[in-house]
Amino acid sequence: MKLNKKLLAIALVTLILLIPSINIADDIVLPDMGDSTGTLISPAQEKILGESFFRSIRSQLEISYDPDVQNYIQSIGQNLVANSDNPTQPFYFFVVESDDINAFAGPGGYIGINSGLILNSDSESELASVMAHEIAHVTQRHIYRSYEAASRMSIPAAAAMIAAIIVATQAPEVGIGALSAIQAGALQMQIDFTRDNEQEADRIGLKTLARAKFDPRSMPTFFEKLQHASRYYGAGAPEFLRTHPITSSRISDTRGRAAKYPYRQVPDSQDYRLTKAKLRLTSTQTTLNDLIIYFRNKIEQGTPKQRAAMQYGLGLCYVKQQKFQQAKVIFRQLSKQYPMQRQYLTALAQVAVNKRDTEGAKKLYLQLQQKFPDDIDFQFEYISILLKSNQNQLALQHLKLIDYKYQRHPQFFLLLAQAYGNLAQGVNSHRYMAEYHYATGQTNAAIMQIKLAQQNKNLNFYLSAILEDRLNFFMTEMQALKELQE
Ligand SMILES: [Zn+2]
Repeated sequence: MKLNKKLLAIALVTLILLIPSINIADDIVLPDMGDSTGTLISPAQEKILGESFFRSIRSQLEISYDPDVQNYIQSIGQNLVANSDNPTQPFYFFVVESDDINAFAGPGGYIGINSGLILNSDSESELASVMAHEIAHVTQRHIYRSYEAASRMSIPAAAAMIAAIIVATQAPEVGIGALSAIQAGALQMQIDFTRDNEQEADRIGLKTLARAKFDPRSMPTFFEKLQHASRYYGAGAPEFLRTHPITSSRISDTRGRAAKYPYRQVPDSQDYRLTKAKLRLTSTQTTLNDLIIYFRNKIEQGTPKQRAAMQYGLGLCYVKQQKFQQAKVIFRQLSKQYPMQRQYLTALAQVAVNKRDTEGAKKLYLQLQQKFPDDIDFQFEYISILLKSNQNQLALQHLKLIDYKYQRHPQFFLLLAQAYGNLAQGVNSHRYMAEYHYATGQTNAAIMQIKLAQQNKNLNFYLSAILEDRLNFFMTEMQALKELQE
């Protein structure tokens, strides 16, 4: 799986390198995005470009689909956006499971944060400072200046190219060769923020940070740590530094500005601690045994909530070791003590899923839905348990009740495809599987699913028309991407 993604990334990057000059005319042509006032790309176009970019990223990087992790990163991000200089601009935050220290902003307000960056932060304010900096790059429209090469391309091609540039920076093992070739061939195709951009993003990010009640002093502290790390790593400097070069003058400038804010202690949220504990398990840099020792050593340290976070981490290690009983004891105790801390209850539900205790899992996900009715992931999890216990019609009924705004969600399509598959309704199953593949950036696989659906001999007129329409749509996108090769 991972290898395939890498190959795909290599293919994409190589494909981009093959084009000395890009001149693509298509029916959907982006206007000039390179304008610093940012008035030339319409919000509607930006939305489409962003969605297309995110599909492309989804197919190339390991994005966390953990509902708790996603919920956390989105809520801290939205808190910062609400306190930014453009609080109404749409943003979407997500976590990339990678040990590399990086964060990046794409078009349409899509901001990716690597788990490596979260794990290397020593406080929530440090994490927030990088996020506030990225948000400022978006609200100040710096990113469009970096993507000038993508202007006048069709939307799918521009989105794929921007994604490829980010992947090349993100995954050095794939990208170093490719990236230097990009630099040599077409300097304007990389994301390099200018010194002025960086300073502006620091300055504006700092204000956002303070307004959102985080500690502004964390920004220079974290940047300094990253700079030290880069000296230590040498050639393998944190990716974040390649796109956002941190200089001593930036650090001292930020430190000077941060010092003007009154000092206040900002405690980390419990969500931050629990997210970090969970992400530790995705890191490839520590073994499970080392992690168990780490959590056990800290279990007697700090405040009750800090200790609870270490217990939670230990419980997750037990789940991984399939010691379900021990995990259950921990999570049950924690969820009793802190009934509104969702992570403990979801961990308990996951134990039930792992033990194939579908009745137990159903009960827990129902509880979660009642406590957190706005969280779509709990509805999806519940439906997936229904499917596991072969309650397919009931699952379909629930899917039809899903709020309209979540009906483009990949998980929605996947569950629909599974439900129809279980009910031996192959055409519908293929049709929704196609939508799932498309939503996750695998347009070729989507085309294959539509063709499979079309092989059915008893298609009615209505369904044939839908399939034909979708096939044309997917083919047009593929065509736009192929033009990158020419
Ligand atoms: Zn920057």
